[in-house]
Amino acid sequence: MHKDIATPIRTKDILNKYGFSFKKSLGQNFLIDPNILRNITEYANLTKESGVIEIGPGIGALTEHLARSSGKVVAFEIDQRLMPILKDTLSPYDNVKIVNEDILKADVKKIINEEFSHIDKLMVVANLPYYVTTPIILKLITEALPIQGIVVMLQKEVAERISAKPGTKHYGSLSIAIQYYMTAEVVMIVPKTVFMPQPNVDSAVIRLMKRPKPKVDVVDEKFFFEVTRASFAQRRKTLINNLTSQLLEGKAKKAEIIEVLHSLNIDPTRRGETLSLEEFASLCNALYPIIK
Ligand code: SAM
Repeated sequence: MHKDIATPIRTKDILNKYGFSFKKSLGQNFLIDPNILRNITEYANLTKESGVIEIGPGIGALTEHLARSSGKVVAFEIDQRLMPILKDTLSPYDNVKIVNEDILKADVKKIINEEFSHIDKLMVVANLPYYVTTPIILKLITEALPIQGIVVMLQKEVAERISAKPGTKHYGSLSIAIQYYMTAEVVMIVPKTVFMPQPNVDSAVIRLMKRPKPKVDVVDEKFFFEVTRASFAQRRKTLINNLTSQLLEGKAKKAEIIEVLHSLNIDPTRRGETLSLEEFASLCNALYPIIK
């Protein structure tokens, strides 16, 4: 097996060889601890039959672990300066393809169809650039991509929001948007010392696995997410005040919404953060004929 890229010495050597300087604006905090990379890879449960999509390979620290454990890796990297470096560092692996594109602009579905037509299990595994964590995860989840799961390093605070349960301080529309489609568990808390340069925030690894079908039945997904976002618009406001100020636009009367809430046994003075996904689904389905 080849020497790991992710040791402090080898990383420094590679950066010096190419005169590479980190761009903070691209969230470039590279991993320099092979144990963390092994753990992330293990949490993805890969086999030689699995395909992997990586976002932001950097100098290839995680990519090489993924290449060793899976059938094929396709990695999206926005920074053109990293292309010659990756060509060099990943030269021992013939099952890696680097795509020099912004993941948020890329046609990921098309690339999956082209690159993974013979692969049954597809996982996304990454140490995400922190300035765009949420848009990337939402893109992966809402574009109905044929992926089974996502194992990613991200800010601890965002990991807590994604996996939060009702009634807790981190629970909000992001928890619901993701838990609707995926199960979510924080599998590892990671110290700042394993990065070069060290980020300002604490990090965590989260594992999201796609549910066979969404957690709750709703008449209209778009409206379901509108209702949940509205319910959390101002966290200190009651449910009824958030719903009326965000959703009504003169289309229905506050009294009708109060009636709907009572019929569902939901006290209108509760706050959005106390409602379960099931309660939000009933609320969405009962409000739909009134508001839509
Ligand atoms: N995987 C490497 C590691 O663990 O050492 C690097 C991770 S670093 C946190 C994030 C990487 O994402 C950087 O290489 C950065 O250039 C890249 N990146 C930032 N924004 C991106 C985007 N929109 N699309 C694709 N890659 C992006």
